[in-house]
Amino acid sequence: MEHRECEIVQDLLPLYLDKVCSPASAALVEAHLADCGECRALRGAMEQRNPVPQKNWEGTDLFQTLRRRALALFAALAVMGGCFCLNTGGAWEGGPAGAGHFAVTLAYLLFWGLFTVQARRYRTLTAIAFWLSLLTFVSAAAGLWWRLTSSGGFLAALLAAPSAVPFYGLRWRLDWTAMYAVAAALSLGWLFYAGRQRRKLRNQPEGR
Ligand SMILES: [Zn+2]
Repeated sequence: MEHRECEIVQDLLPLYLDKVCSPASAALVEAHLADCGECRALRGAMEQRNPVPQKNWEGTDLFQTLRRRALALFAALAVMGGCFCLNTGGAWEGGPAGAGHFAVTLAYLLFWGLFTVQARRYRTLTAIAFWLSLLTFVSAAAGLWWRLTSSGGFLAALLAAPSAVPFYGLRWRLDWTAMYAVAAALSLGWLFYAGRQRRKLRNQPEGR
């Protein structure tokens, strides 16, 4: 076996094991592995270091087909709509939230967490997650500013609304200031993750 081919296959192995290389590359790797004990041993070692990537929910791809991506966008709109219907009244009145609001907030956070991780291979979906996380962060920061300084007036209140409604469930246990602080921290983490995925996708020559 030519050693040059081993080097190529060993470069491709991580992509092959993550199932993110092209079918042509996968075929090349498989053909080589059938003949080369050294590379087979390396694959075995890599698999042990990185076990069961397929069973990990990050390793699955919920959005693989166009129809599923359309469904994901529909679900996103439904989750947003549902969350705003259920939480807006409470947030508007401003009192403490009930356990039901908390459940809505939790479902909202879980949905967007899952959506963002699963969206990481798709430019459009990642862009949606990125812009929504940016909006949420700016909104939560404006809310926090508003609570801490009592300044900003109507504009700050308006800016705070897009985070006040989805995060309102946290008012089950927290006051407004703490709620905005938690919302700002969570959305900043979200923003970093989505931003990093977006840059990664941009640096790839081929987009979806
Ligand atoms: Zn080899």
